[in-house]
Amino acid sequence: MIPYGKQNIDADDLTAVTEVLQSAWLTQGPKVPAFEQAVAEHATARFAIAVNSATSALHIACLALDVGPEDCVWTSPNSFVASANCALYCGASVDFVDIELATGNMCMAALEDKLIAAKLTNTLPKVVIPVHFAGQACDMQKLAALAQQYGFKVIEDSSHAIGARYQDSPVGSCQFSDICVFSFHPVKIITSGEGGMALTNQPTLARKMQLLRSHGITTEQAEYTEESHGPWYYQQQLLGFNYRMTDLQAALGLSQLKRLQTFVAERHKLAQYYEQAFAKKPNIIPLIQTADSYSSYHLYVVRLPGLTAEQHKQCVIHLREQGIVGHVHYIPIYLQPYYQQLGFKAGYCENAERYYQQAVTLPLFPGLTEQQQQFVINALEHFLCSLP
Ligand SMILES: *Cc1c(COP(=O)(O)O)cnc(C)c1O
Repeated sequence: MIPYGKQNIDADDLTAVTEVLQSAWLTQGPKVPAFEQAVAEHATARFAIAVNSATSALHIACLALDVGPEDCVWTSPNSFVASANCALYCGASVDFVDIELATGNMCMAALEDKLIAAKLTNTLPKVVIPVHFAGQACDMQKLAALAQQYGFKVIEDSSHAIGARYQDSPVGSCQFSDICVFSFHPVKIITSGEGGMALTNQPTLARKMQLLRSHGITTEQAEYTEESHGPWYYQQQLLGFNYRMTDLQAALGLSQLKRLQTFVAERHKLAQYYEQAFAKKPNIIPLIQTADSYSSYHLYVVRLPGLTAEQHKQCVIHLREQGIVGHVHYIPIYLQPYYQQLGFKAGYCENAERYYQQAVTLPLFPGLTEQQQQFVINALEHFLCSLP
């Protein structure tokens, strides 16, 4: 089977992990801060906090911004459920802003309309979480202007977008946001097995996320609110979690980070090959790439506009029968039974639902051969030609 994405592990990665296994520290050693510093440098952010997943990073990011039961968080329906679940973990409510069909990203015009309406009813969001879908940054400049005007905070869910750029900066710089989150799940651009990271330029947010990652415990004498009992002393100041990344994971992440640029360049080359093949096919529409963004191409998505829901399903089944793992990203989050039970109804975000019925994710990962790509292209075209 040709998967839609997969990790790329080389000999250096193996050595890096083995070295940690033979060292004194499997966790809470030197590799985690080294990985944090390297990612912060790559992204040109001041602080980076490594955790055990992007889901955990989104959770502590919301908590650091004081999201609580009185608050509402808005995100994109075209995402993995974690983008919305993080708000529910904090007891907050969640709402969804519709997307643009052409990019799959949150639609800033829809966001603005929703903000205008929310202001009238005093229901403005505390935090908005844009998702850089497939690795392409949202219109962050517009989003930052709206954040200023309406007084909300911004967490970028950049799970797809390490290695991407927006305007003149790497995604992760937090130039237009408060916090930016990366994922290192194996299907993403670089991996640490499981893992995530939260980046910020604000020292108070950084410190709060560091505490939340590890039970809310500090061992910094200067932060103690009462006298130390002795050299064994530590102090819990917040209700935190064990969201720590291990040194094994950090060593793998650090080793992978060295190849980030190579990975993204190869993804671009592969995407270009698809793009050329589909250029003259009006019934196969790749995501539009905006001038402001350099995508990391986490996913290669095409829209197949003319199909019925049944034909769309048959298309993915056909690809799988040929040994190609076609996928669909994403089921609009609010259509999940859990969210339906919270009161969301089908039809809530028209574009997200239309998009869901048209989108197919094709294989894209470093190591995919031209021959395999041509096989995918032929299989897709063959299916579309077979339709009545
Ligand atoms: C993968 C992903 C997550 C969750 O990442 P984990 O590291 O698996 O927790 C969150 N949001 C988006 C958009 C993702 O693709």
